[in-house]
Amino acid sequence: MLKKKAQTKTKVQTKKKVQPKKKVQTKGKGQVKFIGKVTKIRQTEPRTVIEWPRALTHVHTYGMLSPFFEGLKKGELRATRCPNKNCSENRLWIPPRAHCPDCHTEMIWKTLPNPVIGKIYSFTEVVYAGIGIELSTPYWQVDVELPGLATIPKSYLLHGKPYIGMKVKAEFRTKNPTNTVLDYCWVPYEG
Ligand SMILES: [Zn+2]
Repeated sequence: MLKKKAQTKTKVQTKKKVQPKKKVQTKGKGQVKFIGKVTKIRQTEPRTVIEWPRALTHVHTYGMLSPFFEGLKKGELRATRCPNKNCSENRLWIPPRAHCPDCHTEMIWKTLPNPVIGKIYSFTEVVYAGIGIELSTPYWQVDVELPGLATIPKSYLLHGKPYIGMKVKAEFRTKNPTNTVLDYCWVPYEG
């Protein structure tokens, strides 16, 4: 302990010696500078109005649905299922539900075996996307029927042109994932 204290003292002394030198070097440069961006004026009449940009970070938790998003990064499509044997709905859910919509029991997770093959149930061409859509347009939004699912999940077709009944295979964005639901999509499947 004593040795450590001694070392700390030495460091402090060294800093003190350096400081006067720096002051000499910056002599004449001590003026306060504006480091922001020049504010854009929108109008000056009848009153001055400026544009003052602000950035917001929305902190969002995936909560109990986190395993779904962790799965996508590993190339796995994970669904939830109600474990209550007396429940009227025991099929799988994608998008997953934390609790059963029918009996409110906490759901359990099941990973669909790869390759995940489905059939296009319906589709829409997205030409004018809404604000916040992070896909280039035009793209095909597809609803895909999967065996054993209670739901028909919505996603997008990576390439190709869809038709009803078309077989598709799940593809995962495991390299540079977006950490959103966009990390999985569908590609045409021949087989
Ligand atoms: Zn249930």
